[in-house]
Amino acid sequence: MATIVIDAGHGGYDAGAVNGTRYEKNDNLRMALAVGERLKKCGVNVIYTRTTDTFVPLLERSRISNNNKADLFVAFHRNSASTPAANGVETLIYTNASNKSLQTAEALQQALANVGIQSNRGVKRANLSVLRETNAPALLLELGFINNDQDNELFDSKFDAYADAIAKSLAQSVGVNCNPGGGDNGGGSNQNATIRNIQTTLNARYGAGLKVDGIWGPLSKRALIRALQIELNMLYGAGLTVDGIFGPRTKAAVRNLSEGSRGNLVWILQAGLYVKGFETPLDSVFGTDTTNKVKAFQTKSGLSADGIAGPNTFEALMR
Ligand SMILES: [Zn+2]
Repeated sequence: MATIVIDAGHGGYDAGAVNGTRYEKNDNLRMALAVGERLKKCGVNVIYTRTTDTFVPLLERSRISNNNKADLFVAFHRNSASTPAANGVETLIYTNASNKSLQTAEALQQALANVGIQSNRGVKRANLSVLRETNAPALLLELGFINNDQDNELFDSKFDAYADAIAKSLAQSVGVNCNPGGGDNGGGSNQNATIRNIQTTLNARYGAGLKVDGIWGPLSKRALIRALQIELNMLYGAGLTVDGIFGPRTKAAVRNLSEGSRGNLVWILQAGLYVKGFETPLDSVFGTDTTNKVKAFQTKSGLSADGIAGPNTFEALMR
């Protein structure tokens, strides 16, 4: 199985480049996790250097890759410049990088250019620690300038399309063919046994009447919200209209779930995480893995990553 190390640049007290309240470290982590989850669904062995907002020293990032004998190392960054006019996407490789690194970087640039970027700044060579100290072919992607408004607009509006294109391109470079853009469940294979399982449970437990087709579409999404409303009514007498629409009243009725919680609401949470690309066992028990996936999802959604699933987290999940 091919191994790709996904390295979200900066983290913890190292914010990277900053534009107002926008921190590079957060953009890097969001994109790194989105690409990593897609690669996992394509059957790639993904190893992250960080999945939360923590500081990881540069040499440690290379060490993780070297110890795991990775086939490819990709660092995710946003660029910055003293002038706000600077824009576009570039990929850095080591000064003496191999042809494999060069080809992989060029393919990645082309894949992003096909999605749409302000300018293609191409592949550049640089003597950077993570590129120099990593044994595997190593790339450092600068996905637009954080101090350029239009680059930020592209990063946000094309986020999923970028993640799909990056995952597809990186997978191809380690010999794995996949097309994460095909699905509506955040990527990966669409005809999915776990989604069939979720649909079967929604039918059996809540009379959802879904076709069990393994495809997460609008009807399945609505059925999951109805399940949430039914449980909130039964458990807390919330008195919600069971309409499958996550509105302000439903949001207000949600109570916090955290590690140690169990029951059908935890299952609904786990199902919601799964279809957003954050796979965790659907065992109705809020354990450590569920906590980690909630944190990762919160980070991706721009929420504070406290691992507690409350109204804001459910709102983002049911979106
Ligand atoms: Zn950076």
